[in-house]
Amino acid sequence: MKMKPMWTDLKKLHPLMKFDIVYASPNNFFGSQVYASPDAFLLSHVAEDLLQAHLEFLSLGYGILIYDAYRPWSVTQLFWNQSSEDVRPYLANPKTGSSHNRGCAVDCTLYKIEDQQAVTMPSAFDEMNEKSHLNYLGGSEAERQVRDLFQSVMKRNQFQGIQNEWWHFNHTSHSQHLVMNFTFEEIRQVLQTQRRPDSK
Ligand SMILES: [Zn+2]
Repeated sequence: MKMKPMWTDLKKLHPLMKFDIVYASPNNFFGSQVYASPDAFLLSHVAEDLLQAHLEFLSLGYGILIYDAYRPWSVTQLFWNQSSEDVRPYLANPKTGSSHNRGCAVDCTLYKIEDQQAVTMPSAFDEMNEKSHLNYLGGSEAERQVRDLFQSVMKRNQFQGIQNEWWHFNHTSHSQHLVMNFTFEEIRQVLQTQRRPDSK
């Protein structure tokens, strides 16, 4: 077996990073709570690049608002098994798993530092239609501009966007990591051992 992955708790990454962990409440496309706790974890090297992107956004008057990060494989399987055919193009097939299952993907948006409000994008988060696509030409010019700024800064920091979801980013290393099914509780235990001074 390979070396154990190093994890980072995004909630401890930067005081101005915001969180709205959608699968820890019923307010998501699935319509029910699937996470026991509103946690956001990523592999540490991915979290480091996310921090760099966040710092760049701060210099532009924005901060990152996280909706989802690492997702256990069993949740990907649950979404797939219980969703209709029209929704499936927006979901990862559990046969291959999602880069979220690899601790290498993040769903997020930007908020404005000035008023602390999430920016308006051409679609809502998790809206499963063409308004969410990166090449959608509708919406206002301001909405398209902030979407494109979001994509370009994330790309400079090793996060690749995907064509049909403006909020989803794969870290460029995602294919080098394994699909995982650890619970948040198990990751929290790993984080505690990482913090022990004698484990350095
Ligand atoms: Zn995603």
